[in-house]
Formats: sequence, structure tokens, C-alpha cells
Amino acid sequence: MKVKVNKDACIGCGACAAICDSVFEIDDEGISTVKEEKVEDDKKQEVQDAVDSCPTGAIEVEK
Ligand code: SF4
Repeated sequence: MKVKVNKDACIGCGACAAICDSVFEIDDEGISTVKEEKVEDDKKQEVQDAVDSCPTGAIEVEK
């Protein structure tokens, strides 16, 4: 699957990186960024938890 962060929507709360730090990290500007756009399916649940926890719906997942 592919994972993206809508940088205009992200408020840099850090929830996604706390839940799934192998996929998300907070960049120098304090905004979440995806380390690797293509994510293995075994991380699906963690990514979904991050999506569910994001207060602004900034994380987009493409199957
Ligand atoms: S959970 Fe959402 S708003 Fe918070 S840092 Fe991650 S992408 Fe940004």
C-alpha cells in the first residue's frame, strides 16, 4: 500500500510517529513525513491506527 501525509492538513501533533515510527517521522519543520511511501502490508494495522488517531485526517492510504 501507499501512504501519504497531506502536509497542508498536518498540525504536527506527533501521534502518527508515536504509533508507527517505522513509517512516520516529524521533519525539521515539525510536520509529519512518510519515511517510505510504499509500506509493507504487515504494517497495515499500525498505519490504520495512525490514520484513526490523526486529528486532522491528514494521512492518506492507497491500497
Ligand atoms: S497524526 Fe496527523 S496531524 Fe498529527 S503529526 Fe501525524 S499526520 Fe500530522
